[in-house]
Amino acid sequence: MIYNSPRGTEDYFGEEIKYRNFLIEVSKRLFDLFNYSEIITPHFEHTEVFSRGIGENSEIVNKEMYTFFDKKNRSLTLRPEGTASVVRAVIENKLYSENLPLKLFYIGNMFRYERPQKGRMREFCQIGVEAIGSNSPSIDTEVIWLLYDLFEKLGFKNLVLYVNSIGCSRCRNDYINMLEEQLLPVKGDLCEDCISRLGKNTLRIFDCKVKTCREVLKNVAKISDNLCESCQKHFIEIKSLLDTIGIKYVHNKNLVRGFDYYTRTIFEIISSDIDSAQNALGGGGRYDNLIKEFGGPEISSIGFAIGLERTILLMKELGIRIPASCKPENKTYIINMDTAYDKYIFEILKFLRDSGIYCDINFNIRNVGKEIKFAQNNDYKNVIIIGEDEYEKKNIIIKKLLSYSQEEFSWISDKEKILNFLKKME
Ligand code: AMP
Repeated sequence: MIYNSPRGTEDYFGEEIKYRNFLIEVSKRLFDLFNYSEIITPHFEHTEVFSRGIGENSEIVNKEMYTFFDKKNRSLTLRPEGTASVVRAVIENKLYSENLPLKLFYIGNMFRYERPQKGRMREFCQIGVEAIGSNSPSIDTEVIWLLYDLFEKLGFKNLVLYVNSIGCSRCRNDYINMLEEQLLPVKGDLCEDCISRLGKNTLRIFDCKVKTCREVLKNVAKISDNLCESCQKHFIEIKSLLDTIGIKYVHNKNLVRGFDYYTRTIFEIISSDIDSAQNALGGGGRYDNLIKEFGGPEISSIGFAIGLERTILLMKELGIRIPASCKPENKTYIINMDTAYDKYIFEILKFLRDSGIYCDINFNIRNVGKEIKFAQNNDYKNVIIIGEDEYEKKNIIIKKLLSYSQEEFSWISDKEKILNFLKKME
C-alpha cells in the first residue's frame, strides 16, 4: 500500500529546500536590519481567536477553516493566518507593556481548506510581520517598505505595489451604506457569490473576478474617495513618505482584503511578469480595533504576510536563481574506491569538516566516472579520489572541477597546504 499526502499538501526536499532556506535567510536578515524580532505561536488556537478575529462573515471563517474538537470537546482550529494568533499572544503575555511599537515577525505554516491549484494550497508557509502599538503613518510606511524591500532583495524586478485606504469603522460604515444603495438597483448584473456578499460582506465584491461584476464596479463610488478627514490625512502622509524613500506604488481604488479586522491602510504586492489569479505575493494592512476587541488595550497595529511557496514558484518561473554566494565555494567530494580505506577517509573527513570545509563522501562504492559526474552536478568544486596508490602512500590528489587543475599533497605533512588549495577559487 502506497499512501499519498493529503490533497493540497506537499513534501519538500532537494532544490525546493534550498529555495525555502534562502527566502527565510534573506527575510531574517532584513527583519534584523529593520529591528523586528521573532515570535512563535502554536499551530492551533481556540476557534474563537479566528472566528472573532478574522470575522464571522469572511470567506476564511465561513468555508476554509480546519476546525476540530479535541478529546475534551473543545473547538480548536489550525491557524489559517498569523495575525490573530500574534495578537492573542501579545495580549496574553502582556508584551504591549514594553516599548511600543512592538515589532515582530513570524515564519510558519497556515492551513486553509481551499480548492488546491497552482500557487494555492491547503497547507502553506507564510512569513509575516506585525508592528503593534502605533497609529503613526510612518509605521505603515516602514511596513510597506519592508515588504517591498524583501521582494527586491530576492531578485524580483517587475513588482507592483498596490495601496489603498478602506477608512476607519466610522467612515467605512457610511460608505458601505452608500455602496449598497448604489448596488441594489443593479443587483441582477452581479454574480451569485456577489449577490450573497451584498449586505453581509459588501466590500468583498471588489475582489470578484467575474467580468459583469467588474463592469458594475466601474460605476460605483470608491471608498478612498469617501474617507473622513483624519483617514484621508493618514493616507496622504503614507503616500508622501513612500515618495520620500522612492518606493513606487499604485493607488488601487478597487483593492480590498479578505479579513474583517483591517482598517485604513491596506496593501498588496504582485508580480506583473505573471498573468495569473495567483500573482499576489503578499499583502497586509492596518488593524486599529483588533487588540481592543481581544481584550487588550486600545492600541493600533499594522502587518503583512507573504506566501513562501507562491514566492518560490514565481522565482522559478521568472528564472530567479539562488545567488552563487549562498553556496559554499569549497564544497569537496571525497571518492572512496574501496571500503578498506574507510579509516583513512574518515581521518581526512574529520579534519576537513573540523576546518570548515563542506565535504561529503560516497558511502556506497560505485564507478569513479559516475562519482565525478555526481560531484559536477551537485555544485562540488573539489574532488579527492582515494584509491590504492593514495592509500598506500598516504597521499591526496585534489582535482579542481572547474579548471581541471590538480595537485598532489602528503596527508602527513601538507595539511595547511591542503586547506589552502581547497579554499582556492578556480
Ligand atoms: P493572505 O493571508 O490571504 O493575505 O495571503 C498573503 C499571502 O499568502 C498571499 O499573497 C499568498 O502569497 C499566500 N497565500 C495565501 N493563501 C494561500 C494558499 N492557499 N496557498 C498558498 N499561498 C497562499
